[in-house]
Amino acid sequence: MSRDPRYDILFEPIQLGPLRMKNRFYQVPHCNGLGDTLPQAHAAMRGVKAEGGWGAICTEILSIHPSSDSTPFAQVKLWDSSDEPGLRLLTDSIHEYGALAGAELAHGGFAVSNRNTREYALAPSAIPTRRDPIQARAMDRADIRAYRDWHRRAALRAREVGFDIVYVYAADDLELLQFFLSRRRNQRLDEYGGSLENRTRLLREVISDTRDAIGDSCAVVVRLTIDELSGPDGILAEAEGRDIVALLAELPDAWDVKISGWAEDSQTSRFAAEGYQEPYARYIKQVTSKPVIGTGRFTSPDAMVSQIRRGILDVIGSARPSIADPFLPNKIDEGRIEDIRECIGCNICVAQYNIGAPIACTQNPSIGEEYRRGWHPERHARAGSDDLVLVVGAGPSGLECAQSLGKRGYRVMLAEAGRELGGRVTLESRLFGPAEWARVRDWRVGQLAKLANVAVYRESRLSVADILGLEAAHVVLATGATWRRDGFGRHNHKPIPIDAGVTLLTPDDVMRSAPVSGPVIVFDDDDYYMGGVVAETLRRAGAEVTLVTPAALASAWTVNTLEQEKIQRRLLESGIEVICNRNLARVSDHVADLACVFTGRVMRVPCATLVMVTARLPNDALYYGLTEDQAALAGAGVKSVTRVGDCAAAGTIAQAVFTGRRYAETLDVPEEAARPLRERVMVPESIRKQDVLF
Ligand code: ADP
Ligand code: SF4
Repeated sequence: MSRDPRYDILFEPIQLGPLRMKNRFYQVPHCNGLGDTLPQAHAAMRGVKAEGGWGAICTEILSIHPSSDSTPFAQVKLWDSSDEPGLRLLTDSIHEYGALAGAELAHGGFAVSNRNTREYALAPSAIPTRRDPIQARAMDRADIRAYRDWHRRAALRAREVGFDIVYVYAADDLELLQFFLSRRRNQRLDEYGGSLENRTRLLREVISDTRDAIGDSCAVVVRLTIDELSGPDGILAEAEGRDIVALLAELPDAWDVKISGWAEDSQTSRFAAEGYQEPYARYIKQVTSKPVIGTGRFTSPDAMVSQIRRGILDVIGSARPSIADPFLPNKIDEGRIEDIRECIGCNICVAQYNIGAPIACTQNPSIGEEYRRGWHPERHARAGSDDLVLVVGAGPSGLECAQSLGKRGYRVMLAEAGRELGGRVTLESRLFGPAEWARVRDWRVGQLAKLANVAVYRESRLSVADILGLEAAHVVLATGATWRRDGFGRHNHKPIPIDAGVTLLTPDDVMRSAPVSGPVIVFDDDDYYMGGVVAETLRRAGAEVTLVTPAALASAWTVNTLEQEKIQRRLLESGIEVICNRNLARVSDHVADLACVFTGRVMRVPCATLVMVTARLPNDALYYGLTEDQAALAGAGVKSVTRVGDCAAAGTIAQAVFTGRRYAETLDVPEEAARPLRERVMVPESIRKQDVLF
């Protein structure tokens, strides 16, 4: 198939200073938890995006100096020559497919506290650091001179290791230059503080330094927060955001603009739709003639074209959509729109970074696995046999498993008990909030429809006898898990006493629209999204709802997906009472006893309906029914029975998809070959012994 001419504009080259980018697809900087300790994995991950057609691919925060040390979070660095080999790997892999490589030079100011290097944190004014009981030092003129010098040297070193684009970074509420710009953070009385001109001085100087250093051969791109979403005390798009760009309009080669902090910039689909940054970015092209890059979780080529035609953006910036589908540009180019694996806006990718783990994605199980497992988002190894594989259950794990096996060339039967495919994502996407998560199902169902070697059987609830009669060589059980009713969970390891008169529900019941009555308590001992989503769904249906959790925050784990504050705000604003730090002790006579997790003191709250959101039990009866009779399996010609997804251990949708893929990737592969590589950083002795630059 060929490209729809409507999308031709997306493939026009763009001039970035001295360089030409081959199209308008630009992977903006994004974290990935690989940093400088996993350089091969990093290079392979970005390289696959270059292969997938992105015109430019940038690093995440690339620290320029030991006074910007984000320990324990993974980070790439340009501190001295020992950083060069890893970064060369990266730029080489990006260049292999004709993409430009961008370096997001960064200094974290007071957003870091230099836990490893133990350098002073630096900031425009003396101010507490973000996470530790340590304050940043207000930079004096010597500090400012030194910082400019570090930045200039890092720019030279970035060019030396092969970067084409060098960032001057003033965004994300993570960066020294943004702190100088923002009235809230800059209380200086000298020429770097006070008026907007003064607060912009350092940014202007660093752009000029960078241009002088490498501007003849590299593009200088400024990444700027144009709205801090903090009211008139901060930068506002319609005021200082636009004015800063106007003051420096033609100085850089391009503007990469966004809102901040990170929770605002990377909003989830529960809170924001595609293109959500448009109201902030729409002023920028009026004040500069340079290309404007912007994001908005764009997965639809029509939405991208619309932004360009309406003069909002020149370049389609993308982080999460490029993670979910590294081949997004090529698929548009080849007229394969229906093959785009659209980001669902869940922020599991972000959470991985925040919990200190390498990148993972709900939609794209191969991200971060390119090097250590050799996985590719589009290519699959050939089948190792002509065996027939039966996959039981068409939730995220079963769907992913079946489509990956099908692409390897296996003959596959996928049996699903229900009429609908999708398992938990189909059910959960009907609750208030995670509607876009249905894309996990939709993409896989679309892929399966193209595979003649995969037969899908709906309304086929299989028993042990059914399975033994199907002549499958391998059986994969992807039968999911069921929410517990007894209260067992993170805090309670025995059942919670509940009066028979209370309507006792689980999220599975709510998803199937079970009726509720009277005051409802949602007891959330799960801590992820489900408690909050169930509470909101019932509240919107008119119920009087109280969310009770032993945690200190509602939906506490969503701190990692950057959603927690938004969730708790919306719960409260919708009239849901939120009671934290309380465990559910019992419910009797329509009253719940809620025990303080610190003192045990009990408060009593009316309760006619109780929804237990605590833990899930695997639906593994089929697994044990099959495996306990090995003779019957052998007689039926079944060589293996394997659990994947929630049937093995309940977890995230991302984990279910990953384990489905892993099964498919490793079938008929010898154990030794299937084992993931462990990466070791080896810096040559000659480099280690060189004097460090700073
Ligand atoms: P996961 O997240 O691990 O993919 P889900 O709970 O989303 O798990 O999906 C499990 C799917 O398995 C559901 O759609 C369910 O209807 C189906 N299922 C469960 N038991 C059987 C069975 N015996 N035969 C066929 N399908 C089944
Ligand atoms: Fe999108 Fe979720 Fe994948 Fe992140 S993890 S890229 S938000 S689908």
